[in-house]
Amino acid sequence: MAGSPRLKPWAESQPYTKHIILANNINTMLLTVKVKLQPTEEQRQRLLGTMETFNRACDDISRTAYESKTYNKYKLQHNLYYRIREQYLLPAQLAIRAISKVVESYKTERSHLHLFKPHGTIVYDQRLLSFKGLEKASLVTLEGRVVVPILVGGYAKLEQRRIRGQADLLYVKDEFYLCLVVEQPEEPPLTPEGYLGVDFGIVNLATTSDGVSYSGEKVESVRAHYTGLKAELQHVGTESAKRHLRKPSGREARFKRQTNHIISKELVVVAKDTMRALALEDLKGMRSQATVRHGQRGRHGKWAFGQLRAFVEYKAKVAGVPVLMVDPRDTSRRCSACGCAERLNRISQSEFKCRVCGHAENADFNAAKNIQWRASVNQPIVVCRPEGLEVELQAHLFRGG
Ligand SMILES: [Zn+2]
Repeated sequence: MAGSPRLKPWAESQPYTKHIILANNINTMLLTVKVKLQPTEEQRQRLLGTMETFNRACDDISRTAYESKTYNKYKLQHNLYYRIREQYLLPAQLAIRAISKVVESYKTERSHLHLFKPHGTIVYDQRLLSFKGLEKASLVTLEGRVVVPILVGGYAKLEQRRIRGQADLLYVKDEFYLCLVVEQPEEPPLTPEGYLGVDFGIVNLATTSDGVSYSGEKVESVRAHYTGLKAELQHVGTESAKRHLRKPSGREARFKRQTNHIISKELVVVAKDTMRALALEDLKGMRSQATVRHGQRGRHGKWAFGQLRAFVEYKAKVAGVPVLMVDPRDTSRRCSACGCAERLNRISQSEFKCRVCGHAENADFNAAKNIQWRASVNQPIVVCRPEGLEVELQAHLFRGG
């Protein structure tokens, strides 16, 4: 489309964030892309007013639902639709969405009355939202439609025809965002001529069989800072301390996310440029194998490689780089030079020295080479597991990752 913005994949710039929702088939993935709205002050007031009224209506619907123990969408629509429209002056489709929001929220939890934040999300479906090119979004409000410029740029090629279904309207820190569901076409998978082994770790977040390490040092110092801060604040326990307490975790999570995006992108680019598949340790094996000493539990819990792995798997999938999962047994004990596997070979977290042939090197590099070796001798156990990926990625979504 002429004049439509070309967006660079995986750019990390704020305020755009991207969540992976699911891998639906071989050729496309569905992503949610968060774009920022740039309303005029008048439009802002209209959107805010709509949100507040919408959520007040949700509270009202919720009270009726809870008191009458009626959680069925159609029954609630039948009983409440006209009253809600009239009382809150909601357009027809917004009244339906309000009922849906309440029904959704009671799906898993019915033990208490649910109330909604004044600026809680509104789901805009196709009847409530349309696009004017990719520059403007037209949204229904209580006082007619507003046509608001959207800030596009920085993210996966956003084409209008690839936008699917509904979008969430969010209001975060005085800004409006739309979370759009977008189809992301995948590149055809390359036929690999070798393997790039990747070992995930704590000190080195990732080490490749080429001998390149991606250090977690800087990340770790930031994490330690926040953990220390949290411990102090928890001790103080005042209301203002509690407010501070919430802050670092967001910053920490963003920092971690950013780091993982950069590392995963780099790994995928290297593999693709050298026509190699990525070889990773099989996730299930890793979980059961991971023996974590007490002092490292905090580090491990927070830094478990879940997000980095998930990013690697998903970016590889979109880029057409096959991902092989290999058996993780002995990858840290085996000598990459002579092949013997002994527990005592690994001297410390960072050092490897073979008791048989004397070969000594960085333990993570040795492990990465073993992972590469296993991929080349075993051949694929699994090539890109969409189901596993989906579960993993959804888990990230719910953790707010
Ligand atoms: Zn050896």
